[in-house]
Amino acid sequence: MKILFLDQSGKLGGAELCLTDLAKPYRNHCLVGLFADGTFRELLEQQQIPVQVLTTEPILVKKDSGILQSLGSMSSLVPLIIKVTQIARDYELIYANTQKALVIGAFVSLFSHRPLVYHLHDILSSDHFSVTNRRIAVTLANRFASLVLTNSQATQAAFIAGGGRSELTQVVYNGFEPKQYKTRATDSHQIRQQLGLDGQFIVGHFSRLSPWKGQHILLEALAQCPPEVSAILVGDALFGEQKYVQHLHQQVTELKIKERVQFLGFRSDIVPLMKACDLIAHTSTAPEPFGRVVVEAMLCERPIVAVAAGGVIELIEAEKTGWLFSPSDSQQLAQIITTCRNQPERAAIMAQQAQIQASQRFNLNTVNQQIAQLLDRVIFTQSLN
Ligand code: UDP
Repeated sequence: MKILFLDQSGKLGGAELCLTDLAKPYRNHCLVGLFADGTFRELLEQQQIPVQVLTTEPILVKKDSGILQSLGSMSSLVPLIIKVTQIARDYELIYANTQKALVIGAFVSLFSHRPLVYHLHDILSSDHFSVTNRRIAVTLANRFASLVLTNSQATQAAFIAGGGRSELTQVVYNGFEPKQYKTRATDSHQIRQQLGLDGQFIVGHFSRLSPWKGQHILLEALAQCPPEVSAILVGDALFGEQKYVQHLHQQVTELKIKERVQFLGFRSDIVPLMKACDLIAHTSTAPEPFGRVVVEAMLCERPIVAVAAGGVIELIEAEKTGWLFSPSDSQQLAQIITTCRNQPERAAIMAQQAQIQASQRFNLNTVNQQIAQLLDRVIFTQSLN
C-alpha cells in the first residue's frame, strides 16, 4: 500500500518515534512529509524511510490558539495544501500523525479523493488545547477521516467526549521491538561510573523538559528522600520551554540537592541509561495520552512509578507491574521511591512481570499487523464507494 504520512514536527517527540516504527514496513512505497526540518528528518533518513520537508514556513496555529488566529493562519496554508495535493495523487492513503497534519490532510483528502486516516496521539482536553483547536480537530476528523487511531482508551474517550464520532475510532497502542531493550549489564555499570553515581540509588526521568511533564514534582520528592537517592533528568526543552528549565535549576539550588541531580539533555541512548537506573519516574501533571517512557522502562526491566491518570493506567497494573501515585503528589512519590529502595527483591519481581507483560502487549509486529489490517479495510471500503 502506498501511504503519504504527514507530520508537522521536525523534532523527536513520542508521536514521531511511533510514526518511525509504523512507517518502516512501508519504506519502499511511502513518503513521510514534514512541515518542519530537524532531527526527525535525520532519523527517518537513517532508517531509510523516504522523507521530504514540505515547508519550512512555520504554521502559526498554536495548541492554544483562538478562532481569529486559527482562521488567519488558514490562508497561509493554501500553497502547502496545493503542493501536498499534487504529491498525494501518487499515494493511495493519507495518514495524518499530528493536529496540523490533520488540517492539511483533510483538505488534501478532499481534493485528491484519497482516504484520510488520523492518528491521534493527544488527549484533546483544555490542559493542552484551546476550545477552537479542539473543535477544529474533531470537526475535521468527523467530516474527512475514514479512521481515527487513538493511542489509548483515554485518548479515545476524550475525542468522543469532545464530539468525535466513536465509530471512527480504534485504540492502537504504540508498538516496540523487545529485543532493542536488551543491553549488556556492563554498559549500564559504565554509565553509572561515568555519571559518578556508583553506589547511589538512581531515579531516572525521561521526558522533554516541560511544565506538564512534571520534572519539578520529582525534584520536590527527591528533597524528601535520603541523600543516597539521586536523579537524572534525560530530555530537552523541545518547544522553547526555557523558563521552565531555569525554574528547575533554581529549584535544585533552593532545595539544596545540586549534588544529587544531573540534567543530561536529549539522549538517543535511552536503553543503557534506563538500565543504569534503579527506578524510572513518570510524573506528568496532566493526564498522559500514552506514555512511551512507561513501556520502555518495563521493557528494560526497570521498576516504574507513574501518575495514575490518562493512558498510563492502561499500561501499569498497580503494585504488580509498577507503582502508581496521585498527580502532583510529591510526598507519595517520595514514599514510593523509598519503598522501592528498601525492597529491592519486590521491585525486581515487579520489573520482571512488567517486562514479560509489556513484551506481549506492546509488540511492534502485532501492532503493525493490526494497523495494516485497519488500513486495508479503509482502502477496501473506499473502493466500494
Ligand atoms: N526520549 C528520547 N530522548 C530523550 C528523552 C525522551 O529519545 O532525551 C524519548 C523517550 O524514550 C520516548 C519519547 O521520547 O520514547 C517520549 O514519548 P512519550 O510518549 O513518553 O512523551 P511525548 O514526548 O510524546 O509527550
